[in-house]
Amino acid sequence: MNSSDSPIWRPFTQMKTTPPALKVVRGDGIWLELEDGRRVMDCISSWWVTIHGHAHPALAEALYHQAKQLEQVIFADFTHEPAEQLARRLLTHLPNSLTRVFFSDNGSTSVEVALKMAYQYWLNQGEPRTRFLGFEGGYHGDTIGAMSIGGSCDWWQPFRPLMFEMDMVPFPATFDEDSEVENTENQVLEKIESCLKRDRYAGIFIEPLIQGAGGMRICRSQFLRSLQDLAHQFGVLLIYDEVMTGFGRTGELFACLKSNTAPDILCLSKGLSGGCLPLAVTLASEKIYRSFYSDDASKAFLHGHSFTGNPLACATGLTSLTLLEQFPQRFRQLESRHRQYLNEHLKEHPRVEKIRVCGTIAAMEITTQEQSGYFNTIGSHLRDRFLELGFFLRPLGNTLYLMPPYCITDDELESVYQTIRKVLDTI
Ligand code: PMP
Repeated sequence: MNSSDSPIWRPFTQMKTTPPALKVVRGDGIWLELEDGRRVMDCISSWWVTIHGHAHPALAEALYHQAKQLEQVIFADFTHEPAEQLARRLLTHLPNSLTRVFFSDNGSTSVEVALKMAYQYWLNQGEPRTRFLGFEGGYHGDTIGAMSIGGSCDWWQPFRPLMFEMDMVPFPATFDEDSEVENTENQVLEKIESCLKRDRYAGIFIEPLIQGAGGMRICRSQFLRSLQDLAHQFGVLLIYDEVMTGFGRTGELFACLKSNTAPDILCLSKGLSGGCLPLAVTLASEKIYRSFYSDDASKAFLHGHSFTGNPLACATGLTSLTLLEQFPQRFRQLESRHRQYLNEHLKEHPRVEKIRVCGTIAAMEITTQEQSGYFNTIGSHLRDRFLELGFFLRPLGNTLYLMPPYCITDDELESVYQTIRKVLDTI
């Protein structure tokens, strides 16, 4: 079947104007092979998930063995070894304050779980709190709760009447050679403090170190430490959405480790299964867990999904963790490579500004006549041009970013930068 005859309604796509989807027949490391024989380099790890590249043999092997053993089981009354092991191993890599692991199956659900957990934590203690604080430009998923917490993404406008109210403060986004960063951070911290003085919040949600879909906006570790101080001072739960930043993306295994901070609740997905199957976890501190632990059934956390803790996904998750433990240099070294090639090929380019790098992620703004933002049309133009040249990049409006699988070689990474330069020279 030709993709234009396809009955499939694609995500984030205006079906009337979009060209037919490209059919992928095979993946191999950073490469995607298309039906027509073309090879395309996946420079954004297929929505930031395939951290080890496509069709990794060790992940395939883990999947095969687990599929022969146990493919799926209801997780309310049963457990299984891959989930038990994965939960324990994750905890060994995370701050000691996190002690409990709640499974679900995608990034949005891990955030919904965090939201409900934080809300019920206060309720169970007889001190109901309904307000949450979030950051402008935040993105936490596309379900109604997760959208509400993000709240400020341009493309959610039609759903606003369905979303609950949140208080939003600016995100102290910074970039190379930003001389104003401390001022910006202080202003944001003052705003947060005045919110916390005014209202009794249940929790503060943040994508630590880098906001993804909101435009690859980076903040400093110092800011997270000050935020943590305020959360402690006012007794508010600090909730990290590490759905995107987890598993090496920021150059350390987790953004909380890189920033030396410890949230009360932490959401993980995307790279958790090695990026090959849907899986998510929401980790909580013992204090939170204890508030649900009761003889009173109504105090339990009554939430779950059919595929909660799927054994296949947990098995690949274990193998993925082993790969990350064995080859940490793969995600640690990418930052210096990004910097080197940015300096050599793009730093002085007249179309490029606000360069920033955080571990394996590099981003920049492309200047155009149009307003900056998600609806700037340069993004789709650039995506088409890169694709013609064999590179899959998917700019967020005029924000161009790279988030490659960790197996990308130096030469391959340099070829992406050379291509970006070539394309920018023509616009
Ligand atoms: N949180 C963050 C920070 C994300 O980047 C995303 C996905 N881009 C989500 C949550 C939602 O994850 P999912 O698409 O798996 O629902």
